[in-house]
Amino acid sequence: MEYDPLKTRNPGRGLPHAPSYWAATAEAAPPDDGPLTGDIEADVAVIGGGYTGLSCAYHLAKAGVKVAVLEANRPGWGCSGRNGSFSHGSLGRHGYSDWARLWGLDVARALFGEAAAGYATVRELIAEGNINCDVTEGGYMKIAHRESRVAWLREELAALLSYGANVELLEREAISADHFQGQEAFGALRFADAIGLHPLKYAQGLLRMARGAGATVHPESPVGEIRRDGNVRVLVTPGGRVRAREVVLAVNGYGPEQNRATAGRLLPVLSNIVVTRRMTAAEKAEANLVTSHMMSDTRKLLNYFRRLPDDRILLGNRGPLRPTTTAMEAHRSGMLETIRRKFPALHAIDGDYFWGGWVAITMDSMPHVASAADDAKLHYAMGYNGTGVSAASHAGRRLAERLTGDDKVHPILSRRLPRMPFAAFRRLGQAALFSWYRWRDERD
Ligand SMILES: Cc1cc2nc3c(=O)[nH]c(=O)nc-3n(C[C@H](O)[C@H](O)[C@H](O)COP(=O)(O)OP(=O)(O)OC[C@H]3O[C@@H](n4cnc5c(N)ncnc54)[C@H](O)[C@@H]3O)c2cc1C
Repeated sequence: MEYDPLKTRNPGRGLPHAPSYWAATAEAAPPDDGPLTGDIEADVAVIGGGYTGLSCAYHLAKAGVKVAVLEANRPGWGCSGRNGSFSHGSLGRHGYSDWARLWGLDVARALFGEAAAGYATVRELIAEGNINCDVTEGGYMKIAHRESRVAWLREELAALLSYGANVELLEREAISADHFQGQEAFGALRFADAIGLHPLKYAQGLLRMARGAGATVHPESPVGEIRRDGNVRVLVTPGGRVRAREVVLAVNGYGPEQNRATAGRLLPVLSNIVVTRRMTAAEKAEANLVTSHMMSDTRKLLNYFRRLPDDRILLGNRGPLRPTTTAMEAHRSGMLETIRRKFPALHAIDGDYFWGGWVAITMDSMPHVASAADDAKLHYAMGYNGTGVSAASHAGRRLAERLTGDDKVHPILSRRLPRMPFAAFRRLGQAALFSWYRWRDERD
């Protein structure tokens, strides 16, 4: 867990999955094509075997394109196998009402359509591949953690209704009657279109689909270098090379510094998750935690949480600046305190699983699906700002469509990643910003 993408360019080779609840409850991984050995040719080489890379590979292979996916560790090893499990119509980090303020109503509606299409892509992929990933139907609630935040939820509601979203505002009484008994719940924006899923099983389903469509997927094959040979790009791994017409970079928070096209343009931020032991029957009854909704609060440094199908609580939030053992241990304790504060009935709850992962924040808070300025054959999709289950699955698909001549990427998303000013000092900037957020989150 000491890996820091701003210090080490590549995330390692052949590493095991993070010690997550998901890794502990997944089935045996489906077969892959083994580490790359020798030289192969492909139309498109994809670097990174998460949702972006696997979805892109699946959609390309389905269109008859010869694809090879190169993954440094194992498919789903990055964020895709270890996330918070929420899938809904999310696209970046802005509030929904910000879109209309920034770009006008028509663009905001189009972006909401794109976010909703991302959620639809996840549902389609699960159905098409018959992926058994423990889907929990229910919806998603954004919960006001202070009375003053209800006004912002109302703004969000008005904007979302004008975009045609299926949302409603719940009063605090409705939350305690129908969802849970707890603190920090003064009202909630409820989205009907949202699911929870088993992220690693979903990633492994995509692996099966990509290979079933004809792509090859090579674990333990970190790409160290991309060489140009005329119109061909040569990707060099320890065991062999891929000669390809086009290259897709799908590494998100796990290696933005390794390529000129993305270096200095993303802020990898640690996101941590704790999963508790199972609630006892008495705890469950007292907390009345009957909801099957995915939930998050209105903090800038938000907490996201849900009840898992086996009656554990999953809670995630932004981790420390760096994953040192001391900082991670302190963070784990703090997260358990947060659960106990939100749900007083769980005052004696403890954690069974704890892990972290690197999400990728962008300067403009939006994901980007673009091509490199100095190489029209190098494409990337990344910068999901911590909400990429649907956005990454969908961006992989949009990139595949673009490469097969049917470009549907919205112009706001097809711009190149904006450079971060003073990129060498990103962590300092993060520290200052997070302190300010922490202060603001606890004030009216
Ligand atoms: C703790 C946590 C909780 C989250 N919760 C949610 C949530 O509830 N809902 C939501 O929507 N999103 C969530 N996210 C974000 C979401 O998981 C990600 O946005 C999404 O999975 C990104 O997918 P990806 O395929 O782009 O990247 P990743 O899944 O991170 O995959 C990148 C891969 O690239 C590989 N790689 C890097 N360099 C090389 C190289 N040189 N050669 C070969 N391979 C390489 C890495 O090994 C890695 O496997 C969460 C993320 C984390 C960490």
